[in-house]
Amino acid sequence: MLEQAQKALKEYFGHQSFRPNQSELIEHVLKGDDVLAVMPTGAGKSLVYQIPAIISDGLAIVVSPLISLMKDQVSALNQAGVKAAFLNSSISPVEQAEVLEYAASGSCKLLYVAPERLDAPRFLSLCKTARLSLVAIDEAHCVSQWGQDFRPSYLRIASFIEGLPKRPPVCALTATATPEVQKDIARALELRDPFTLVSGFDRANLHFGVERPDPKAKRACLLRLVREHAGQAGIVYCSTRSAVEDVCGLLCENGFAATRYHAGLAASERHANQEDFLFDRKPIMVATNAFGMGIDKSNVSFVIHYNMPSDVESYYQEAGRAGRDGSPADCILIYNKKDVQTCQFLIDKSYEDRGGGFADTGAWSDSAGESALADADGASRAIYDRDCDRLRQMVFYCTSTDCLRSFILRYFGQTDSPYRCENCSNCSTDFEVEDVTVEAQKILSCVLRLAQRDRRAGKALIVDILRGSKAEKIRAQGYDGLTTYGIMGAVPAKRIRYVLDALIAEDYLVQTAGGYPVVEITGKGAAFLKERGSFEIKVPKRLPKEEVFVEPG
Ligand code: ADP
Repeated sequence: MLEQAQKALKEYFGHQSFRPNQSELIEHVLKGDDVLAVMPTGAGKSLVYQIPAIISDGLAIVVSPLISLMKDQVSALNQAGVKAAFLNSSISPVEQAEVLEYAASGSCKLLYVAPERLDAPRFLSLCKTARLSLVAIDEAHCVSQWGQDFRPSYLRIASFIEGLPKRPPVCALTATATPEVQKDIARALELRDPFTLVSGFDRANLHFGVERPDPKAKRACLLRLVREHAGQAGIVYCSTRSAVEDVCGLLCENGFAATRYHAGLAASERHANQEDFLFDRKPIMVATNAFGMGIDKSNVSFVIHYNMPSDVESYYQEAGRAGRDGSPADCILIYNKKDVQTCQFLIDKSYEDRGGGFADTGAWSDSAGESALADADGASRAIYDRDCDRLRQMVFYCTSTDCLRSFILRYFGQTDSPYRCENCSNCSTDFEVEDVTVEAQKILSCVLRLAQRDRRAGKALIVDILRGSKAEKIRAQGYDGLTTYGIMGAVPAKRIRYVLDALIAEDYLVQTAGGYPVVEITGKGAAFLKERGSFEIKVPKRLPKEEVFVEPG
């Protein structure tokens, strides 16, 4: 069978050999196994189902969410001499009838359908009478409520497959799925013991970097980064339209040929600006995340994030638009605490828009016989918690002192062990390890004392208490009576915060989400105090310590 697959690869697609992983996946599909392939865009996922579809008897059903993509795929296949057709709302009822007839005739090898069509009676009757070679699900992460673009219509796929008289192998393909989303895809599509392959997330030519400037120096930091890439094409991502306007103005004022893209511009201007960028008339594009989908510019040498996105999936997707041609390229994120608050605010807001509330904990009861409404609340709350967790991971990326590439690959489940890539800003920074056990004890004790008094505080308040702030609210609330009040009076706030963040990252403390986030001690944190553990942080060696922890302003 593999020989036949090789032959089809050459004959129809003109490629000499399969890429690593393609042949392994194809072998499993041909054996009749379900497969789940998580490979980045451009890795060659389509062939994983197209080749088996071509060389097997019968018709392959390909579920795909994007009408434009479907059209492109089918015309490329037709040009290559493969018989394929598509069925979606862009064609008339007469044409749909023709497509169904063609598919039933036995000569068509692949039929692409939008998920909304899966329960159309005529389509169903075709699937019940035709011999199906396989069912492929493109962008399979859309079936997961934890995925980035959940589509309710994808939930029909499982019952569609279940309704088939003879279940063919099912291939689920996606470019983005954390281990959790992978599990969810397998569950929601009812995959049977799927052969799962996660691969190719590493883009060795990309250099990753995080800059953590003082908030006041953020614009200067951006200008420095852009200057370092003078004459190269790049994208600067911002989180809001007004930030796009502001940053684009800043770059133009400083003599850079920059243009902009966001949803607030007229379609004609967006189009013109995009063309200016694509044809290098204006090599720098300042944009919101509305820019990039379907843009295939191979010579993007840098992607700078002026604002932090709310999850690592979005970050990696956007940063990954650099270096498509395989040349070295830089992906740099400018980190600022304020962006964390903005992201949290948006997550809170979308939860509230879904009808969730922070005061109401009733939705969490999991007793049997709950109303459907409570179930919906529970699901909404679970999505909320997941979003908060993703944001936390994004922040860990920005504040981590370990290898950034290793962090990303572990996030996507491609590896479980950390390593040093020697091609990211953390690997190239000389860190030194500092024992901060005493400071950690003081911080943890402060949080514990507060809890013992039935009080919970956010990071800023904890720092104020530890430094012995004379602020009115501290006295009014009686925090100056705590035994931990003022025990870090001589330590700069920024340093306390650094250690506090490290304690959160290492799970000694946890920051709650939503409304007013407070910090709580974990079991690990309590055990640390009891058992007198030790705690270390890493600080960049090249800077004198006073400089690392200078107070802003
Ligand atoms: P994905 O669906 O993973 O984004 P595609 O299936 O669209 O990727 O493939 C991306 C590109 O790689 C296409 O241009 C395709 O022709 C090419 N490609 C795929 N497999 C091979 C191969 N074995 N040899 C050479 N080129 C390949």
